[in-house]
Amino acid sequence: MAENNVPYKIYLTEDEMPKAWYNLRADMKNKPAPLLNPGTGKPLTAEELSPIFCDELVKQELDETTPFIDIPDEIRNFYKMYRPSPLVRAYCLEQKLGTPAKIYYKFEGNNTSGSHKLNSAIAQAYYAKKQGLKGVTTETGAGQWGTALSMACSYFDLDCKVFMVKVSYEQKPFRREVMRTYGASVVPSPSETTEVGKKILAEHPGTTGSLGCAISEAVEVATRNPGYRYVLGSVLNQVLLHQSVIGLETKTALDKYGIKPDIIIGCAGGGSNLGGLIAPFMGEKLRGEADYRIIAVEPASCPSFTRGTYAYDFCDTGMICPLAKMYTLGSSFIPSANHAGGLRFHGMSSTLSQLYHDGYMEATSVEQTSVFAAAEQFARVEGILPAPESSHAIRVAIDEALKCKETGEEKTIVFGLTGTGYFDLVAYQKYNDGEMTDTIPTDEEIAASIAKLPKVPEI
Ligand SMILES: *Cc1c(COP(=O)(O)O)cnc(C)c1O
Repeated sequence: MAENNVPYKIYLTEDEMPKAWYNLRADMKNKPAPLLNPGTGKPLTAEELSPIFCDELVKQELDETTPFIDIPDEIRNFYKMYRPSPLVRAYCLEQKLGTPAKIYYKFEGNNTSGSHKLNSAIAQAYYAKKQGLKGVTTETGAGQWGTALSMACSYFDLDCKVFMVKVSYEQKPFRREVMRTYGASVVPSPSETTEVGKKILAEHPGTTGSLGCAISEAVEVATRNPGYRYVLGSVLNQVLLHQSVIGLETKTALDKYGIKPDIIIGCAGGGSNLGGLIAPFMGEKLRGEADYRIIAVEPASCPSFTRGTYAYDFCDTGMICPLAKMYTLGSSFIPSANHAGGLRFHGMSSTLSQLYHDGYMEATSVEQTSVFAAAEQFARVEGILPAPESSHAIRVAIDEALKCKETGEEKTIVFGLTGTGYFDLVAYQKYNDGEMTDTIPTDEEIAASIAKLPKVPEI
């Protein structure tokens, strides 16, 4: 088998880097449900979306038929600074686990933002610049997206305003300094600088914030300031499109050695890294050319796939954003502040939601103490300090590899290692001190936020 000669790291050449993004929706028979105007309940048109998003990104958002969309040279050139990213054979982890499984991970933490988010940030900044805009606004949770966007904006000389979830702003002051070094302004959310922020603060004094709140604030500032648009780091179709570089590179690297994965695993917050990683594999599955087990891993404290409802919901807490049909815990759901590991969004990409609903992928949820145990185990043998988000995927990759140990099956497992955990050391400290606990929402808590889902006529 060629697999015996697989190097620790499979690197591609610059020329083997994708020249076009792959738009998974083109191969879906059941397309993801359209975004709705919360006022009229009708699908949003490009005209209605253009005050919020850049024109070219609106086009990508609404395009469900073009399978490949060329990556502009300016973006490809930026990608070359940190891509192609390595696909690593986790020989040391396999040995440590004593598993016959073959484990590979696609490492996206090899840039200053420390995550895959730069893949979409640079694309979104490019289209904003091309449209002649002054700047963009956004939200950030753990801070990777804000950092990635700050880097992308400084590259294209755009202003960047970041609303950072308050709990992260306080827990991760150094993230803020990286963003400021790249020229961004960073405001803890909810803030008194927006109408929606004031309203949320009045209703929930002392709230530690949520991604949903921060999105509302960022959208308000973008739509009230001429020359600004809002950009989002996950959930949207356009973000999954840009993140397809992860999966396309992974597929090229595996094909080079004649390797076919059995199981593909990714952590799922809003679904962008997972959507990107699985894109070309899911495409084959949808076209009936190949079959793979695909597993989304989410935190037990924010379990949108495994305990959410498939329905139209707001993407934000302030209920000013378009409605998306997705697996959701309700836009008023705020995960426990005890939860340290990112992946805090209440909903899930509508593309992945549709695929999950149609049975093309599985989902599972894991508790954070077991996630950090996996992170520690991985760090000690593979030499990378993983992001807590990524460690959700590590947890399930290890669990699947241990199942292979019991059955003797030599399955090939691929997972997305989306980033590094250098800014998550407060959480690691808690874990190391034995003070980390698990907070899982009760059925009543989830039912309470689901009860507030908007009423939408079936379309
Ligand atoms: C943001 C982030 C995630 C989760 O976001 P998705 O859109 O679900 O991919 C996962 N890992 C890292 C390191 C992140 O920064």
